[in-house]
Amino acid sequence: MANSNGTPVGTMVCGSNQPTQDTQCLTRKVTFVIYCAPRDDHGLNPMYTALYGQDATHTGVTSSESYLTNLPCVLVDADSGKVIYPYEGSHLKTYNLGPAAQSSGLHDGSRKVHTFPPINIPNDVKRIALHIANDAYEAHRNFQLFPWTIPDVAHSKVHIYEMRADLQDRFSSENNLGSTPEENSIVAKPGSTTEYFGYLNGDLWLKISHEFTTDEITRLCPPETLSRSISGGSGQNGTTSQSVTIDWATTLQPIYNAGAGSRSMGAFSVQISELGITLRFAARAVANAINTSTRTTVQQALKRTSPRAFAAILKAAWRLNISTVDLSSSWRPMLGSRLHKMGVGLDVSEIVDSAENIDFRIHNHSPVDRNHPFPTSAGGQKLAKLYQELRGDGEVEANQVYTPWLQWIQPHDDHMHITVKYE
Ligand SMILES: [Zn+2]
Repeated sequence: MANSNGTPVGTMVCGSNQPTQDTQCLTRKVTFVIYCAPRDDHGLNPMYTALYGQDATHTGVTSSESYLTNLPCVLVDADSGKVIYPYEGSHLKTYNLGPAAQSSGLHDGSRKVHTFPPINIPNDVKRIALHIANDAYEAHRNFQLFPWTIPDVAHSKVHIYEMRADLQDRFSSENNLGSTPEENSIVAKPGSTTEYFGYLNGDLWLKISHEFTTDEITRLCPPETLSRSISGGSGQNGTTSQSVTIDWATTLQPIYNAGAGSRSMGAFSVQISELGITLRFAARAVANAINTSTRTTVQQALKRTSPRAFAAILKAAWRLNISTVDLSSSWRPMLGSRLHKMGVGLDVSEIVDSAENIDFRIHNHSPVDRNHPFPTSAGGQKLAKLYQELRGDGEVEANQVYTPWLQWIQPHDDHMHITVKYE
């Protein structure tokens, strides 16, 4: 074995009963570089525009660039499943991607870029693979991303392009990459022995991303009894207390049953009858999942959203007598941060309390509202209570509830974002 210049990179003495001979022993390193999907709205992606013109129906990566900061990853020996990186003894369970750099040299707009450190591959390893997102956690590790036979090259560089499935052929041709690789495979860049590439498209995200099963719903959201005060009763201060016992696996079923076989981006509603709450999914709530893939269905997108997220908003809404909750996004593989990609983010755009005649759209009026108190209107104060309820829920990441007012971060001017815990 030799490095790319043909010079030996080490010597090794072979078996003790054999004559000593010079063997060239290669220390192989691999570096992965992930180029996140570019935005394709507003003419930002010339490849999208070349295919669809100004038709926004098919846009998938809109309003917030895709980036992977803090996304958990592990590199494994693809044959034994043993973790290669993080290195043994580092005491890290996963390697979390660092901050992104920016690139615009791929003819399809501007992309966030995350570069792994060079990883040493043990000499006995023939094939490697990645596990990323929820799939990086040991308990969920079931989809090998880019299983790949390592070449005998001292340092190979693997470029992973996050890609809408419908644009990958055009991307291959405009970047002189030859033909589009098979799904989930890494191939050499034409004319190179050290540079490789593969496409992380929406079809592949569907396989990577964790689908929550009924057993997991029960484990993550065990049955519980909820209680609330309702006005107009005979109790103290004219209120009475009401309670209801909820088996979340049953209660959430109508959500996970919705959209089977459908790739429609139209609005739809789900009735949660035990709680008397309607969840309204906005038109295009699953557009990123549908438009970056050739086969993802509405139901598959919903099943990749944590039951904790739905339970948290339903529980808080019920306690506050909110009768309708509008959701603008759940699992989506290629838009914004890792939170929605990992199914732990849920976006709320409107709340209705029909008994109190409140119908409140969660939208600030201008940048001066950012990081300021909620509006003093009845609707604004209802949202203030909802925000407090959510932050008090042990399954919610209290510091990652973002609103157009308190706890504002880009781009949360027209919805409240809820983050729930991962594992
Ligand atoms: Zn969000």
